[in-house]
Amino acid sequence: AASALDAAQADTSLNAFLHIDPELTLAQADAADKLLAGGLAAPLAGIPIAHKDVFVTQGWRTTAASKILAGYVSPFDATVVSRLQQAGAVSIGKLNCDEFAMGSGNENSAFGPVRNPWDHSAVPGGSSGGSAAAVAAGLVMAATGTDTGGSVRQPAALCGVSGIKPTYGTVSRFGMIAYGSSLDQAGPIARHARDLLELLDPMSGFDARDSTSLETCDGVDNAPGRIRADFDAAVQAQDAAGAQALKGLRIGVPAEFFNGGLAADVAAAVEAALLTFESLGAVRVGISLPLTELSIPTYYVIAPAEASSNLSRYDGVRYGHRAAQYRDLAEMTSRSRTEGFGAEVMRRIMVGTYVLSHGYYDAYYLQAQRVRRMIANDFRQAFSQHCDVIMGPVTPGVAKHIGDNREDPTADWLADVYTLGVSLAGLPAMSIPCGFGGPARPLPVGLQIIGNYFNEGRLLAIADRFQ
Ligand code: GLN
Repeated sequence: AASALDAAQADTSLNAFLHIDPELTLAQADAADKLLAGGLAAPLAGIPIAHKDVFVTQGWRTTAASKILAGYVSPFDATVVSRLQQAGAVSIGKLNCDEFAMGSGNENSAFGPVRNPWDHSAVPGGSSGGSAAAVAAGLVMAATGTDTGGSVRQPAALCGVSGIKPTYGTVSRFGMIAYGSSLDQAGPIARHARDLLELLDPMSGFDARDSTSLETCDGVDNAPGRIRADFDAAVQAQDAAGAQALKGLRIGVPAEFFNGGLAADVAAAVEAALLTFESLGAVRVGISLPLTELSIPTYYVIAPAEASSNLSRYDGVRYGHRAAQYRDLAEMTSRSRTEGFGAEVMRRIMVGTYVLSHGYYDAYYLQAQRVRRMIANDFRQAFSQHCDVIMGPVTPGVAKHIGDNREDPTADWLADVYTLGVSLAGLPAMSIPCGFGGPARPLPVGLQIIGNYFNEGRLLAIADRFQ
């Protein structure tokens, strides 16, 4: 932990860390040493990790990369943070991200962009860009992230590391700063599927302090140990099958994930991965997810609607920044918010309040909820009739340059096309590295593996066989 701390403090080129506090880290390292000395068989004991700055942490500052929370210190730890600490992991600090997790390139942080370790002129992806960059650069073994519409999978893909977003409700949202509450899920980012398992298993499990936390799913308890048990069982079955480890696995490949918008180099890397899976005995099944394109407007109505409600708590009174000068209470609130929120956050608040407003609610918000249900039904049908998992790209292209799309913020929204449907349906999905882009931009490419509800252990085992 001490050397990871040194490396994190020395790293100024990536801008991956927002807050480092050696005293807190070393105290955690001492506690982990005691766990080990006590004979606890804890695979994470003493392992350096770091948290996206949307998880509240006692002691460390938590800002969600927003000026409005500058200087804020939470009086308690998020469930994710305390569970990983109990498992012995040592936190090196808090990681940069898009402000309130709104973005796809980590360019919306109030504290500057994060750079992609593979190419410092490129974005690391977002919103968990600091998490993916820190793992890719070897500053930490693993990092937490959050995924509302792709924010674990997409930065993992663009930085050449692995990430998993579990089934909605698997990991507690208690202490995770809310963006779109019906979509937000925490997930780990690490190099390898087995490392993801080491974090995801202790992170997961019912938590009475989150009203949307799952107690069970189809009769299966949401408890730590479930994902590990499923992983072990799947790996055992694969081992027994020998060279054709994945024999009989039906991989659904949605036609809509390979349309005109997909860059040729990304398509080629994903195709090569699919061939590898076939060589392991899996079979490819063509499927259709006809509403894939519609997931973009659906998500960009629902997520801002929820965000506009969630962000109303930043009023200059309870948390963080308060304007220095104002005439009355109303001006105190409006000035504090104007000074504290960045442009993208304000854009989302305006979209959100608009689609929720009287007269537009039915046409936008309610309609989006209807389409959301249809999107979930399409996935349900694919899994019940055609395939065991779904595979495809995570992103339409490799990482863009920092500053691209500055004139057109909605261009980034369109690039979320392959990740949003999964979030709207609440399904588990992961991203693993599967190659590099063409000679013009030889940056990492990710493969997305989507599973049915509660299939995290199985997804990780499939990824493990590929890795
Ligand atoms: N890019 C998406 C957005 O900006 C997803 C972000 C996320 O998953 N937190 O909303």
